[in-house]
Amino acid sequence: MNASMHEQLAELLRADPDHECEGVGKDKVCVKIVAMAELPTRFGDFHIVAFENNKDGKEHIAITRGDVIGATDVPVRLHSECLTGDVMGSLRCDCRDQLEAALKMIGGLERGMVLYLRQEGRGIGLLNKIRAYSLQDQGLDTVQANHALGFRDDERDYAVAAHMLMSLKIKSVKLITNNPKKIQQLVDYGITVSDRIEHIMPSNEHNRFYLETKAAKSGHLLDFNGRERFVEQDDLPIIEDRRMNGNL
Ligand SMILES: [Zn+2]
Ligand SMILES: [Zn+2]
Repeated sequence: MNASMHEQLAELLRADPDHECEGVGKDKVCVKIVAMAELPTRFGDFHIVAFENNKDGKEHIAITRGDVIGATDVPVRLHSECLTGDVMGSLRCDCRDQLEAALKMIGGLERGMVLYLRQEGRGIGLLNKIRAYSLQDQGLDTVQANHALGFRDDERDYAVAAHMLMSLKIKSVKLITNNPKKIQQLVDYGITVSDRIEHIMPSNEHNRFYLETKAAKSGHLLDFNGRERFVEQDDLPIIEDRRMNGNL
C-alpha cells in the first residue's frame, strides 16, 4: 500500500479530530473519521477507514483502494449492511454476491471504494429484519411484513454516504450501481456524480435463479415457494453473460 494514502488519511484525522457540522439530509447526520488502517483482503489491498456518527453512535466503514483523498471520478459502491447475507451467506437475499462483486471489481482498479453503511435490513435494523423474515415465513409479503412492524417499505437513506464522501474530500464519483434513484439521492445531498458504472454480477448455479428472478421481477422477488423475498440492496442485478433487455 502506498505511503502517501496513509499519510493523507492521517492528515485528515489530525486536521479535524472533533469534527462536527450542521449535518446532511433531513436527519442532519454528521459523521467523523475516527481511525484507519491497511486492510489486505482476498479481493486485493485496501485501506479501511472507520467513521462514527456523532449523533447515534453508529459506526460506518469505507473500504478504499488507491489514492482517493481529494480525487475526481472515484468509482464508489454503496453497500447497506446485511449480517445474514454478508456474513452468514444467507440465500434470502443477494447482498453478499453484490458486496463481493463490488470488492472484486474495485480490487482490480487503480482506485475506488466501498462505503459499508450500517443500515441493516433496509434501515429497520437486524432484529426487525428477522421479525420481518418470520412474518414472511408465515405468508406475509415483504411490504406487508414491514408495515406490520410499523416501518415504511424502505427506510434507507444515503446522507451518511454523502457525508463520508465529503469527509474524504472526494471531488466526484462514478457510482457503481444499476439504480438511477441512488444517484439522485447522492446528487440531492450535494455529491457530484460524474458517471455510472454498471454493477455486473457473476452468476453461479446456486444464485442464478435468484438473480434472474430479481432482475426480471423489479422489486417483487418470489422464492421457490412463491413467497416474496426481502430485497435489501436496491440494485437490480445485471448478470454476467446474460444481460436482460430493459434492465439498466
Ligand atoms: Zn459533519
Ligand atoms: Zn441481505
